[in-house]
Amino acid sequence: MIATNYESANYPDSSRTHSPDSMNIQRSETRLSMSDESSNLLLASLSPRYRAALLSRMRTVSLPAREVMYEPDETPKFAHFLTGGIASIVGTMSNGASAEVGIWGKEGMVECFHLLGNARIPTRCFMQIEGTALRMPYKDLQREFRENDEMRECVLQGVQSQGAILGQLAACNRLHEASERLARWFLMVRDRIEADNFYLTQEFLAVMLGSRRTTVTAAAGALQRRGLIRYSRGRIHIVDPVGLEKEACECYATVREIYQNFYRVAVS
Ligand SMILES: [Zn+2]
Repeated sequence: MIATNYESANYPDSSRTHSPDSMNIQRSETRLSMSDESSNLLLASLSPRYRAALLSRMRTVSLPAREVMYEPDETPKFAHFLTGGIASIVGTMSNGASAEVGIWGKEGMVECFHLLGNARIPTRCFMQIEGTALRMPYKDLQREFRENDEMRECVLQGVQSQGAILGQLAACNRLHEASERLARWFLMVRDRIEADNFYLTQEFLAVMLGSRRTTVTAAAGALQRRGLIRYSRGRIHIVDPVGLEKEACECYATVREIYQNFYRVAVS
């Protein structure tokens, strides 16, 4: 879909990750805590009565980094409403090269594109920064999407918003420099996790930007020398978000505007 200039990066590989119904997840599953319900933006947009009915059918799950949300061309087993962390939507080519084409934070109803119809979804989605989600069986949410107007309007609005962001980022990855895109990406993550510190490997960063690792290292180094971030062994600290915004390409402001109104039309 986008980037042309990246190195091969098979990451993550499904053989090295746990499926969503793995023992790992089973152990970490807990009953819903009430503090989770308002942190997902779609759930927060629903009427209290309908939200309460849905929540009674959901579980809170912990999602470690690399956990796969869905694989290419497969119907998901579960639907995830993210309440923390970052999930990455990645396109992988036949030679194994990968590039990120989108991210989900707490606005994410991660499997929303699957709900719309029977089209083949060729991307993979996995957790890039560990987090939590409220989840329910995918088939149950599919029924809600078909039968409940409120859910359908929110999902459609979410798909439209995410589609608009994906289009902007496709142009961004073709037209803007790596340091501008890296600054834009850091700010997008910051908005979604509401924190200035997070952990990412350089390999992840290369996939995210669809760039060679050396390009990413140079771009991160440039941001660090200007005092905008600190980056050490994958730990990223955003020192100066205002300065970082000046460094980011115009796409950050465009995407932020969409993000801030993600489900607004559906509930107005
Ligand atoms: Zn851009």
